[in-house]
Amino acid sequence: MNIIMFGPPGAGKGTQAARLQQQHKIKQLSTGDMLRAEVSSGSALGQRLESIMSSGQLVSDDIIIELIENCINQPECQKGFILDGFPRTVPQAEALDAMLSKVEKSIHHVIVLEVDEDALVDRIKGRAAESGETRADDNEETVRNRLAVYHVQTSPVLPYYEQKGLLRAVDGMKSIDEVTTQIDTVLSAD
Ligand code: AMP
Repeated sequence: MNIIMFGPPGAGKGTQAARLQQQHKIKQLSTGDMLRAEVSSGSALGQRLESIMSSGQLVSDDIIIELIENCINQPECQKGFILDGFPRTVPQAEALDAMLSKVEKSIHHVIVLEVDEDALVDRIKGRAAESGETRADDNEETVRNRLAVYHVQTSPVLPYYEQKGLLRAVDGMKSIDEVTTQIDTVLSAD
């Protein structure tokens, strides 16, 4: 089973993707985590990524598509995968389709976490306080940029999947457990 977790920053994609990974033994592929690992490595690429990410802009499609292509054909993705934070642009969605069709795979579900955006900034600030480790892009200004980028560049991905009949919305403002229950219902209904 191959799933896309979709929604604005702070909607809870990572939390729910981690739960799906545990429950269904399918691999969580978080492009944000992969990019943060590259930044931590201190490589030249990581340094370039850091300045893009800390401003809340998107990293170029080429870099992201290569990252994902390297992952989805690994043995750990054989039972399936959950894409968390990808695709974030229509060209990324098109590239994903192309790379999946080459290996005769497809996306089975696109789950959209619907949230009240005014609450997101507070939620992300809460995440920073709770985890104790502050993400460089979890400050209020960058979060607002990330939301603006989401509206302009990422939300056009929704109609792309709607046309394919794959989109399923869940209420991301409920408790973490309730969101998980809604996702389980979606996955077992289709
Ligand atoms: P996330 O952890 O998913 O919120 O991602 C953190 C940051 O990494 C984003 O604000 C972008 O700068 C970058 N990033 C993550 N995934 C992508 C993607 N699919 N396309 C472009 N940039 C991305």
